[in-house]
Amino acid sequence: MAECLLDESERDPGARLGNARRVVIKIGSSLLVDPSTGRLDDLWFGSLVDDVGALRSRGQDVLLVSSGAIALGRRHLGLREGPLRLEQSQAAAAAGQIRLAHAWQEALGRHDIPVAQVLLTLGDTEQRRRYLNARGTLETLLGLGAVPVINENDTVATEEIRYGDNDRLAARVAQMMSADCLVLLSDVDGLYTADPTQFPEAELIATVSEITPDVEILAGESTTDLGSGGMITKIAAAKIALRAGCHMVIASGRNPHPLQAVESGAPCTWFVAGDTPASVRKQWIAGSLKPRGDLVVDAGAAAALAAGKSLLPAGVIEVHGEFERGDAVIVRDGDGTELAHGLVAYSVSEARRIMGRKSSEIAAILGYGGRDELIHRNDLAMIKRNG
Ligand code: GLU
Repeated sequence: MAECLLDESERDPGARLGNARRVVIKIGSSLLVDPSTGRLDDLWFGSLVDDVGALRSRGQDVLLVSSGAIALGRRHLGLREGPLRLEQSQAAAAAGQIRLAHAWQEALGRHDIPVAQVLLTLGDTEQRRRYLNARGTLETLLGLGAVPVINENDTVATEEIRYGDNDRLAARVAQMMSADCLVLLSDVDGLYTADPTQFPEAELIATVSEITPDVEILAGESTTDLGSGGMITKIAAAKIALRAGCHMVIASGRNPHPLQAVESGAPCTWFVAGDTPASVRKQWIAGSLKPRGDLVVDAGAAAALAAGKSLLPAGVIEVHGEFERGDAVIVRDGDGTELAHGLVAYSVSEARRIMGRKSSEIAAILGYGGRDELIHRNDLAMIKRNG
């Protein structure tokens, strides 16, 4: 009987990956690069790419966060043993990234999947304007059916301005792109009740729905995983993902077809989000951002917004405030009643010039093309009213 009470995804945890609309997959260096040869493990790599191809052919958006640049480049430059100094890692990354990108291009190309390399630094996800640019580019790539292959821009990232590990970078990407599933493939199959290398009776934890202090302690005790991450950065990634409404899974990538394995329920640890990315984003737009201006709309636009549509310039009759592209603004009706908060796609001076005009006229008016919508519906949070 208890079975009936379980929600679908509890019975079939792999469906969180299988049914996701947008997936970020992080692949650790220790999986990609064979430490004895310093080369890519081709057989395994091919099987992973087959799995990515399967997700794409079902129409799922895929973003890959691929480590391995430093591991691939160090051998190429003759930097063999021991820890590297920062400038050596940067040099190794410069040599390795080109190989890494080439390998992804070759492998995904066999599935006719266009590949695009995106190298990010911390500021690209933490500073608003750069964040908007990075998100816009990634969104365009996904819209064109490409798979972005993302890594930290190690060659320019010094200690103070680097993520340092791709677990958190992947979580930031998942948050930025409103992904609904983040897969961390590494050399461990999840979070254990104790360090399994020391305590054979340690058990794998199948589901975590909240990062409690106990979970953090467990992560601190774990000594597994050879990448720069370890379990602590995976838990930090889980915190970011869950706050963004994105499920996250730590799964072993040791065997071929690691994504297929997660989907078919192989042992792993799922961090289950209580919210969806869309609702978290709307709460953020409505609650956390200080509005910089007001857009007054006509009755037709107000009705369109209430029906879940985007705000087009044609429906705007007044523009107030001082705002830039990407800032939050309040949308009001002619009586001054707040209808919505939203992220505006044009600056105040541009908005004044295009208000009341058709979207097809935007390029001619501004001298450059932009979005058709002044506020896209994904960037709108409607004000709920009782009654
Ligand atoms: N960005 C590093 C690389 O490509 C990897 C960082 C990590 O291991 O998390 O080599």
